[in-house]
Amino acid sequence: MIDASGVLRQGLLQLSRSNQLRSIIEKAPVSRSVVQRFVAGATTADAVRATQALCDSGRLVTIDYLGEDTLDLDQAKATRDAYLTLLAALGSSGLAEDGRAEVSVKLSAVGQFLPGDGHKIALDHAREICQAAVNAGTTVTLDAEDHTTTDATMETLLELRQDFPSTGAVLQAYLHRTEGDCRDLAHEGSRVRLCKGAYKEPESVAYQKSSDVDLSYVRCLKVLMEGKGYPMVASHDPRLVQIAGALAAKARRQADSFEFQMLYGIRPDEQKRIAERGDQMRVYLPYGEQWYGYLMRRMAERPANTFFFLRAVATKG
Ligand SMILES: Cc1cc2nc3c(=O)[nH]c(=O)nc-3n(C[C@H](O)[C@H](O)[C@H](O)COP(=O)(O)OP(=O)(O)OC[C@H]3O[C@@H](n4cnc5c(N)ncnc54)[C@H](O)[C@@H]3O)c2cc1C
Repeated sequence: MIDASGVLRQGLLQLSRSNQLRSIIEKAPVSRSVVQRFVAGATTADAVRATQALCDSGRLVTIDYLGEDTLDLDQAKATRDAYLTLLAALGSSGLAEDGRAEVSVKLSAVGQFLPGDGHKIALDHAREICQAAVNAGTTVTLDAEDHTTTDATMETLLELRQDFPSTGAVLQAYLHRTEGDCRDLAHEGSRVRLCKGAYKEPESVAYQKSSDVDLSYVRCLKVLMEGKGYPMVASHDPRLVQIAGALAAKARRQADSFEFQMLYGIRPDEQKRIAERGDQMRVYLPYGEQWYGYLMRRMAERPANTFFFLRAVATKG
């Protein structure tokens, strides 16, 4: 039998990499209602305002300046500068204090794919962002992108951690390799976000069935919770959230030794409930003009959103 939602998901993930469609759809202003549900706005001030509101409700925040896969050095520098401006604003508003608000960075947005010395350019830009984060009183997490970047991103992470040991890693449970990566990274002081994984990946490297991804997530979670690091449980899946709580209790973890993470606009009531019961809940908050790739991945995760999104883009709404 054909799995229609699986086909739609694969199609949407394919489209998330289409530059042609990106340029058409991104022209729809960021204020449109569906974009607004998942994205804080276009400017630094929008990001700071949304961060303040989340912090006021007892949640923590990690902020992502939208953009990815750049092949333009000026754009990579502009992304770095956007993070530097943001971190200065977080520092002066007190929001970065004790890491209440941190930032998430995609290496492909700061130059990883530039021909020639892309790896070094991205590393240098990330280093500047990490230094600005330290100056503001907070830290950086390196987002995980598709599997062709995993080795390079791990290498960059280890280099950054020499000077900035609190730099966070992201591991994707759908990759076959991830349980091993969890073991390598489950050490003292190591912040590791575990997510299911949001890209279209081949069978040779990634589990394809959602039940296999979930089983891998639990195996990885066990390694992280039983280890000495700081696990960041990034999922909206009620079963996995429950299992994470049980594994944390079994490992006798205090509430401040791990955190839950969810995306801005997804299950906000559950986010508040988790924060109110005394666990740490961090919200991943994207802002900026380049929301296309991010939003298409959110559509792929929940194809029911796609209809509403396309209708909003196609109309004036
Ligand atoms: C904080 C955070 C950071 C992330 N960072 C990365 C990263 O660096 N790299 C990466 O590859 N992926 C990242 N992801 C995305 C992640 O890999 C998944 O694609 C995404 O979280 C959906 O998986 P899930 O665990 O929520 O489970 P799912 O099985 O997708 O969803 C479980 C339930 O959550 C709700 N839900 C999930 N998605 C949506 C949605 N879009 N709209 C409405 N409801 C929804 C639904 O109720 C659904 O039944 C991140 C996710 C989070 C929460």
